[in-house]
Amino acid sequence: MNTRQSLLDHCAAHLGTLRAEGRYRDFAQLEKLAGRFPRYRWHPAGGAPREITVWSANDYLGMGTHAAVRQAARDAAEAHGAGAGGTRNISGTSPLHAALEAELADWHGKPAALLFGSGYQANQAALSSLLAALPGMEVFSDTMNHASMIDGMRRSPARRHIWRHNDLAHLEALLAAADPATPKVIACESVYSMEGDVAPLHAICDLAERFGAITYLDEVHAVGLYGAQGAGIAERDGAAARIDIIEGTLAKGIGVYGGYIAGEAALVDYVRSVAGGLIFTTALPPTVTAAALASIRQIRADAALRTRLAERAAALKAALDANGLPRLPSESHIVPIPVPGADRCRAVARRLLEDFSLYVTPINYPTVPRGTERLRLCATPFHDDAMIGELIKALKEVI
Ligand code: PMP
Repeated sequence: MNTRQSLLDHCAAHLGTLRAEGRYRDFAQLEKLAGRFPRYRWHPAGGAPREITVWSANDYLGMGTHAAVRQAARDAAEAHGAGAGGTRNISGTSPLHAALEAELADWHGKPAALLFGSGYQANQAALSSLLAALPGMEVFSDTMNHASMIDGMRRSPARRHIWRHNDLAHLEALLAAADPATPKVIACESVYSMEGDVAPLHAICDLAERFGAITYLDEVHAVGLYGAQGAGIAERDGAAARIDIIEGTLAKGIGVYGGYIAGEAALVDYVRSVAGGLIFTTALPPTVTAAALASIRQIRADAALRTRLAERAAALKAALDANGLPRLPSESHIVPIPVPGADRCRAVARRLLEDFSLYVTPINYPTVPRGTERLRLCATPFHDDAMIGELIKALKEVI
């Protein structure tokens, strides 16, 4: 067996299939322009750079370029340098990590929090370790849960039951059919990233209580954006005390990088003590840690950006509706526009970029099921009426 040749042949064939199905991913090179968000500079392959408006950034509040956040990163780089220099256990824990974990715990109203290299790592490490903790564990997972949650569940011995998206009658039926004696975890998101809809948290917690399950909530698309202090949907709905583990990212609403969990001290300490995805990897750099801390403090103290975000999301939806453009019934700042067909969806996004200087990400299989391809628009506080107007005009031409 010539392994190298076989592998090269396999990779080439697979990439060919992706291209043929319109699913090959090109990464557009986009340069964020601090102080001008959501304006970016696009660097087309072989062409001259051009300024564009980005409609698909996950830096939902523009905190990545907020003056206080940039300053905190600069100060930390000057004081402590670029990298953490070790895992959390091997010289990599600084007072900044401790301060950020304390801030996250307090924000979510939980006794403890733990940082990870990313939201993906947080989900994978926390779910894989908690779901292996007791014999015979079973996990109940919404069908739209993110790949990182699925990865964490699959790395555990827990039996997985999948309930139809936000269908609590189905969840209830699955719980009722399970052995009452087994330990159970209900895992879901709050704001779903590809739909923009929101889970009914109290109803899920009611079921958890009735069937003796604990709750694990991914608030990645909600932290910074919802609730009186921006802690997420659990805060907004007054449900935080009923959620056992809240998982979040520092990379979207907070605008920086990294992930975390917050919850009961013993659960968090257990994950800290056993999860490979925490133990064997380098701690977050000081620049990132300081910037995230500054961002969260700013978000907690000032609701103006999230208030403006809600208003801008409503304005975007109203403009789409008034112009007869299709959209999924989102309840959040994420506004998906259905453009079925991978080729068509990609072509529409390409035209928006090339002909109208608007960047909108096409979402294809396997991120969403085939036939439900879509453009994923994210409103931010900085998309003004003129930008919405340009977008609508372009969409009317290309869809
Ligand atoms: N959970 C959900 C629901 C996500 O959409 C994502 C990433 N897009 C993650 C977790 C992973 O977060 P991060 O980008 O910080 O790795």
